[in-house]
Amino acid sequence: MVDSVEVAVVGAGFAGLRAARDLSAEGRSVVLLEAAGRVGGRAYSRESATDPGTTVEVGGAYFHRYHHARLAAEVDRYNIETQPAAPFKVFRNRLAPGDHNAAFPIPPEEFLEAERVLFCLIRDARRIDPHAGLENQNLKDLDISAHDYLNALNPPPVTSQLLRSWIWNMMGQRVEDASALWVLQLIASHDYSVLGVLLSLDEVMTSGTGTLTNAIANEVPDLRLGEAVHALHQQADWVDLAYGAERALRAEHVVVAAPLNCMRELRFEPPLSGPRAEVVAEGHGGRGLKLLIHVQGVPEGISCTGDGVFPTLYDYLPATDGGRILVGFTDRDSFDPADSDAIEAAVHHYLPEAVIVGTDYHDWCADPYVRAPWVSPRIGQATRAHKSLGEPHGRVHFAGSDVSVLFPGYIEGALETADRVRAEING
Ligand SMILES: Cc1cc2nc3c(=O)[nH]c(=O)nc-3n(C[C@H](O)[C@H](O)[C@H](O)COP(=O)(O)OP(=O)(O)OC[C@H]3O[C@@H](n4cnc5c(N)ncnc54)[C@H](O)[C@@H]3O)c2cc1C
Repeated sequence: MVDSVEVAVVGAGFAGLRAARDLSAEGRSVVLLEAAGRVGGRAYSRESATDPGTTVEVGGAYFHRYHHARLAAEVDRYNIETQPAAPFKVFRNRLAPGDHNAAFPIPPEEFLEAERVLFCLIRDARRIDPHAGLENQNLKDLDISAHDYLNALNPPPVTSQLLRSWIWNMMGQRVEDASALWVLQLIASHDYSVLGVLLSLDEVMTSGTGTLTNAIANEVPDLRLGEAVHALHQQADWVDLAYGAERALRAEHVVVAAPLNCMRELRFEPPLSGPRAEVVAEGHGGRGLKLLIHVQGVPEGISCTGDGVFPTLYDYLPATDGGRILVGFTDRDSFDPADSDAIEAAVHHYLPEAVIVGTDYHDWCADPYVRAPWVSPRIGQATRAHKSLGEPHGRVHFAGSDVSVLFPGYIEGALETADRVRAEING
């Protein structure tokens, strides 16, 4: 006798957890199947490897209450304690021929030109309706490399480096490979504000995102960890799932809330088709790498950007030994996180005074159940498939930050898609 439920949810990240909890609360029978041995997916707080006793986030962490309203509501629902992100007090923008160290990231002589460039970014972002899907809006001329797009705007040097650094950080790939359209989509989602994107690094959960994901998981009646789904075979009135070690489940609806770059390992019957199938087969290009670097001898509130292999390196938390834990962003193709000499050189590029105590990270690209950190399309992908990545395929529905229309790449996007699939299933 095959187990049977109304809804099977695949993946217990924020999207799958919220969908499973809310569908269960509406009285449906729901099973949540998670391949890993823990919930949370790319929201992953755990004890620091370099500073025992300190909780760190090796995945998603920051949010802004105004833009990320669903996440703020979840935080409030479970009374999760939060705190402001470490404020930036000293900016170092390191680039040849001259460095810029100051309390403001751009020098006064660039203010007017910087304003012009920001205006152009906002003007182009205004062509985007962030709810409509990037493939539906005649935007191919913006789906070019962020490098070429910025060159055409001709920003002054410090402004240019600052933009390139943050784009590399936010896109998880070099500006040459990242799509300018995806940058503009983020600006459009954050109320057409460039600063809105940067200022969304505003607040964090004091004891880690795990406090929230575990609280949601406690309200999911049937959660099965260590159970990877392999195949989804649709019949007329149900879907047969194969999962774990030769286990089977029958569900009226399935919510696939697994990362986009894992979907090519799922056997869909009938198979996915059209541009969505192409993008699933190719995988998106996000390769972002977040390193937590424990240092001594560095002032609180430091924010570095520039021409190093870490496009951004900034303050995160105080360490118990009086030092600081910094976040260094780069991408997995540009950097080997196991190379301690390379880490030292990359930190010293900005902070020659730093003494490195140790480094901590999670290699999301190598994680078999994630395969990539956060979604960042290759040039040309978003204008082929964006909204359509999340469209239902018969009785199979798609959730997760990677297929979010409004906030792709953010926890908020994962929560947004949970609401969408719930509405789809409820008809
Ligand atoms: C380093 C890093 C920094 C980030 N920074 C931020 C930030 O500051 N702010 C922010 O908002 N967002 C940030 N993000 C993005 C954010 O963490 C993610 O977008 C969000 O957590 C994704 O949630 P999800 O539910 O869509 O997917 P996931 O959290 O990836 O959950 C998917 C789940 O599916 C499971 N799974 C995969 N395959 C299968 C299978 N076959 N069967 C069963 N289960 C399966 C996985 O194990 C996983 O648990 C960051 C991400 C990373 C990696």
